[in-house]
Amino acid sequence: MIDDFWQMQMRQWPMAAAGNAALGLMRTRRLAFDGFEVRLQFNPARIRSTAADVRAQAIASRPCFLCAAHRPAEQLALALDGSGRFEILVNPYPIFDRHLTIAATAHTPQLLAPYLPDMLAAARALGSHTVFFNGAGCGASAPDHAHFQAVPRGLLPLPSEYAALAAAGLVDTIDAHADAVLTSTARLGRLACRIEGRSADSIGLLLRRLFAMLGSPGAEPPINALCECDDGLCRLIVVPRRAMRPRRYGDGPGRLMVSPASVEVGGVFVVPIESHFERITPADVLEVFADCCYTSWP
Ligand SMILES: [Zn+2]
Repeated sequence: MIDDFWQMQMRQWPMAAAGNAALGLMRTRRLAFDGFEVRLQFNPARIRSTAADVRAQAIASRPCFLCAAHRPAEQLALALDGSGRFEILVNPYPIFDRHLTIAATAHTPQLLAPYLPDMLAAARALGSHTVFFNGAGCGASAPDHAHFQAVPRGLLPLPSEYAALAAAGLVDTIDAHADAVLTSTARLGRLACRIEGRSADSIGLLLRRLFAMLGSPGAEPPINALCECDDGLCRLIVVPRRAMRPRRYGDGPGRLMVSPASVEVGGVFVVPIESHFERITPADVLEVFADCCYTSWP
């Protein structure tokens, strides 16, 4: 069903089709680390999100692009499930081919815990996709409207890299409840936690325990999250964040125009300036992770 919806939108919405077609022209390269990799993507169209003004005043003064009333006429919505809580949209500013947005039908703040069942439902419904969540202040372009994104699996390397470590017994068990287990590892350049389980209740309970461990000045700790489900078994990776942007963020000499969100902590650095794309080194990547994520438990 999602394939039919996608093809229909590509035929009916020239802007989305052009955005998707432009992805084929992008330059990419890979940086290898011990046990993981980071892929760099030169994507000049993403300057609007990489350098976005995410201050509360700027957000409050713009029409919300995820509310149905402000969407382009060509942008259609596909109900996620029978709940009526979330709907699937084609992302007109894609990072990857078949990049989807899954938006709440109500204008309600960007939080994970209240909408975890919806994220799991999306990951189950879009089984060939990685569904991800950017916390407010961690890359969410609409921190005032709850939403997820989804891209085809395999494009973000973190889930499979984590799974390889878990299969080798190289992750630490932090907590468990019923059919779910919470593990973590700092072997991938940034601290990553993973809740693996079958029921939304068990996964949700471990997520709330993880949030309590991390602590937060706001409603939820700053995080990015990526979820994949197979035959009812869901794996939710949570990457705790310590800063929105790296200390050297910017476009001048010695600066890095990288603004991490789930895509970046998931292992793909989107770089909107070509000279930065060309000069970023493995040390720069590790610096961004150290600045924006944790390298050990906080
Ligand atoms: Zn809205």
